[in-house]
Amino acid sequence: MTRAWVGVGSNEGDRLGFVKRGLRLLASDPDIELAAVSSLYDTEPYGVEDQPRFLNLVAGFDTTLAAEVFLARLLEAEDRCGRIRRERWGPRTLDLDLLIFGDEMLATDVLTVPHPGMPDRSFVLVPFAEVAPELEVPGTGSTVSELLERLGDQGTEVTRIGDAPRLGAD
Ligand code: ATP
Ligand code: CA
Ligand code: CA
Repeated sequence: MTRAWVGVGSNEGDRLGFVKRGLRLLASDPDIELAAVSSLYDTEPYGVEDQPRFLNLVAGFDTTLAAEVFLARLLEAEDRCGRIRRERWGPRTLDLDLLIFGDEMLATDVLTVPHPGMPDRSFVLVPFAEVAPELEVPGTGSTVSELLERLGDQGTEVTRIGDAPRLGAD
């Protein structure tokens, strides 16, 4: 069993609806169990600034799947939430980034993990530090909260706007 940490984001359409649907799709997979969900954050777009603000959170899952297969499940859930791939970092109904997969360090054509963007991204580190502050990020020698501390006020603006979404029927 591996603990996988996923950065979840949406900035197109019913943001909260897509975030919840993505979490539900993954949690309903027989090989994946939802273990932790952060609060909800409203965040300033990163990379391409001229686009709507994002809704972000970080979720932890326990899975028996291999990393590449787990990633394929993430991309499949994005597709099922109507994601259309246009420009890099552009608007999307759902983005599921694999941040950390156990203690694995991989860099292949399809998967780089730990996700290399983490140290620069307050919209990932703030929710992540809420649910796993002491987790060591493989390859960095630092914990999540240390990475956040190091980023200081360099990150984009992140505002907590609500508790972890409830995934029961609604
Ligand atoms: P970024 O990864 O910088 O946040 P992005 O989320 O906009 O950018 P996408 O268009 O969602 O990038 O993903 C493009 C490809 O990145 C995916 O098809 C996937 O194969 C690859 N990829 C590599 N490593 C990862 C990872 N750790 N998590 C998610 N996708 C990854
Ligand atoms: Ca991303
Ligand atoms: Ca992505």
